[in-house]
Amino acid sequence: MPVLTFQYYMPVKIIFGLGVLSRVGDEASKLGSRALIVTGKKAMRELNILDKVIKLLEEKNVQSVVFDKVEPNPSVETVMDGAEVARREKCDFVIGLGGGSALDAAKGIAIATTHEGSIWEYVEGYPKRREITSKALPILAIPSTSGTGSETTPYAVITHKGEKIKDTLVSPFIYPKVSIVDPEIAAKMPPRLTAYTGMDAFCHALEGFTSRNSQPITDLIALDALSRLIRYLPRAVAFDGDMESRVQVSLAATEAGIVIGETGCTLCHAMAHPVTAHYDVPHGLACALLTPATLRYNLRSSIEKYAKIAQLFGMNTSGIPVREAAEAAIRLIEKFISDVGINTSLAEVGVKAEGIRRMAEDTLKMGALKNNLIQPSLEEIEKIFKEALEWKP
Ligand code: NDP
Ligand code: MN
Repeated sequence: MPVLTFQYYMPVKIIFGLGVLSRVGDEASKLGSRALIVTGKKAMRELNILDKVIKLLEEKNVQSVVFDKVEPNPSVETVMDGAEVARREKCDFVIGLGGGSALDAAKGIAIATTHEGSIWEYVEGYPKRREITSKALPILAIPSTSGTGSETTPYAVITHKGEKIKDTLVSPFIYPKVSIVDPEIAAKMPPRLTAYTGMDAFCHALEGFTSRNSQPITDLIALDALSRLIRYLPRAVAFDGDMESRVQVSLAATEAGIVIGETGCTLCHAMAHPVTAHYDVPHGLACALLTPATLRYNLRSSIEKYAKIAQLFGMNTSGIPVREAAEAAIRLIEKFISDVGINTSLAEVGVKAEGIRRMAEDTLKMGALKNNLIQPSLEEIEKIFKEALEWKP
C-alpha cells in the first residue's frame, strides 16, 4: 500500500448560481461597512454590473468607493495605487469584481493596504520575501470570467512591468471570505474570451490532476471539472442563449480553482507566465498553446492519469495498452483546443524564437515548477518552448 498523506483546506464560502449576485449586500454587510470595489476599466461598468453592486450594497448600508483602474495582468503600480485609495478612504474590506485580474488586484490591495513596503516584496520569488499576515483586509470576490478560479485560490498573480516578470502572492490570508459566482455575469463574455478563460480552467484541472501534490479529494474535483469542460466549453463558446453551458463552465472553473488551491499549477503555467510577461499574450491562450508540448514532456510521469483523461473524452480504453491510451489523450486535448475555436500559434501572436532563452530562465524561477512531477533542465524547457512556438490546433 502506498503511504497516503495529505491535507485539504478550502475556507471560502462559495455562493453559486444564476442570480446570486443579489446576495452581495447581505454578505458584504457581514465583512465591513465600507468597501473598496476593485474592478477593470470598462466591462463591469458597461454591463451595468458595477452600478448594480453599488446599489445592492447601499440597500444593506454598506458604503463603497470604486477603484476602476485594473488592467489585464495587474501591475505592482496598480496594486499600490489601489492600496493608497483604500487607506485614504478608510475602507475595511475589498470587493474584487471582474476577471482574474480584478480579483487578483483586490487580493494584492488587501495585503498592501495593511502591510509595509511594496507588494512586490511579498511575491513567491522575491529573494527576501516578506511575510503576508492575517492583517490583510477581508476579500469578497465576484468573478466575471469563468477561468482563473481566483475566487477559490490563495493566490494572486502580479506583474512587474519593468522587469517583465509575473509572480504570485501565496497566502491563506488571501482566500476570499466569500465568493459570489453568478454565471449570468460570465454569460456576457464574447466567444474568444470564453474560450481563453475556459482553457485556463481546463489547464488548472489538468495540471492539478497531475501535480506532485494531487490527492484523492482534488483528483475527484479535477475530473469533475474536466468532464464538465469537455462537454460544455465548446457550447459556451458558441453560446446562443444556452445558459446551461454557462452554468456548467462557471462551476468547472470554480472547481478547478479549488483544485489548484491545494495542488498548485505545474509546468504549463510556469511557462505561460513568462510568455504573457514578455509578449502580452492573454493568460488562457498562453496556457492552451503550451498544453500539448508540456503534456508530451510530462507523459512518462503520468501515464495512468492521461489514460483516465482519454476516457473522459469518451474513449473506450479497454484492451488498449495504457501508454497508447495516454498518447491518445494528448491528441484528444489538441482537438479540444481546436473545438473551442482557438486557431492560432504562439509564433502567430508575436512570441519570438529569440526570446526563448530568457523565458526558459524565468520559467525556472516560477514556484509552480516545483509541483511538476519531473524537473526539466533549462535546455529541456527551451526545447519545449521551441516545440510549442509553432504548434497550432
Ligand atoms: P482578465 O481579468 O484579465 O480580463 C480580460 C478582459 O476581459 C478585460 O479586458 C476585461 O475587461 C474583460 N472582461 C472581464 N469579464 C468580462 C465579461 N463578463 N464580459 C466582457 N468582458 C469581460 O482575464 P482573466 O479572468 O483571464 O484573468 C487573467 C489574470 O488572472 C491573469 O493575470 C492570470 O495570471 C490570473 N490568474 C490568477 C489565478 C489565481 O489563482 N489568482 C489563476 C489563474 C490565472 P475590463 O478590462 O474592462 O475589466
Ligand atoms: Mn491560470
